[in-house]
Amino acid sequence: MQTEPLRRPGRAEVAPGVARLRCAIVNVYFLGEPGGPWILVDTGLPGFARLIRKAAETRFGQGARPEAIVLTHGHFDHVGSLEALLRVWDVPVYAHERELPFLTGAASYPPPDPWVGGGMALSSPLFPRSPLHLGARVRALHADFSLPALPEWRWIHTPGHSAGHVSLFRDSDRVLVAGDAFVTTRQESLLSALLQRRKLSGPPAYFTPNWTDARASVERLAALEPEVAATGHGVPMRGRRLQRGLKKLAKSFERRAVPRGGRYVGHAAYTDAEARQVAPPTPPRPRALSGLVATLLALWWLRRRRVRAHQQELHFG
Ligand SMILES: [Zn+2]
Ligand SMILES: [Zn+2]
Repeated sequence: MQTEPLRRPGRAEVAPGVARLRCAIVNVYFLGEPGGPWILVDTGLPGFARLIRKAAETRFGQGARPEAIVLTHGHFDHVGSLEALLRVWDVPVYAHERELPFLTGAASYPPPDPWVGGGMALSSPLFPRSPLHLGARVRALHADFSLPALPEWRWIHTPGHSAGHVSLFRDSDRVLVAGDAFVTTRQESLLSALLQRRKLSGPPAYFTPNWTDARASVERLAALEPEVAATGHGVPMRGRRLQRGLKKLAKSFERRAVPRGGRYVGHAAYTDAEARQVAPPTPPRPRALSGLVATLLALWWLRRRRVRAHQQELHFG
């Protein structure tokens, strides 16, 4: 049995019994000590199943499979490799019961808000948001807040970024797996997301349809005074810097996390009793639109200049 922690770049032991695997712009976590039972938290973007299985075998041994897969929520970047993993691992999947409609084909996520600033946000209308069809393979998390196979961990409902978003917490050393309840990089910016530039931030704004709940969730997590935070996006943070940063984020959430004039500010989207999505209409965005038009014009002009330069080169070369 291989008992070495994951040490290669992008894979790291975040805390005892918690390892992180970066899958491009999103993290997945392995909870559990090598040699014992373990669970996988989230499954990253599509196309990462092989890497996740290889990392699992490096940490837990040949042919290792988890006791369960637990989802912090069902956004495409957290469930992308789930179906591919389930083809090899016949294991149960757990999510909060309010997240189940998005995992069983009953409901799609609300439309994104692309005008919250940043390149990632502008691209967000292209991101898939239709549900998976997991059927009976996905179950509701235990009502007593316990996690399968790992008695030292509990789940906490942290809605806002999605209705059934959960975070995972180990009280003994205050290790928090926060999902997207808050993140440690500005996920709205394409560059920050790719480089994982460190900045304690609210949930990715383009996909957050309920800011009142999102704030309450950050307040709840800040009150736990976590020693380590392992988030869905960005590198883990720890200690006083984390605790102070989280309290600041909770206290001035409006200024630090809520997008000014965002589509869902003051008008949360919700799922009704028939699992239908109710979202406010898209408000006009003249300034953002004119920014987009200006960017497209600038790109067109640059391209034209390059074509001209190339033609001149051909002519005089
Ligand atoms: Zn998300
Ligand atoms: Zn995410």
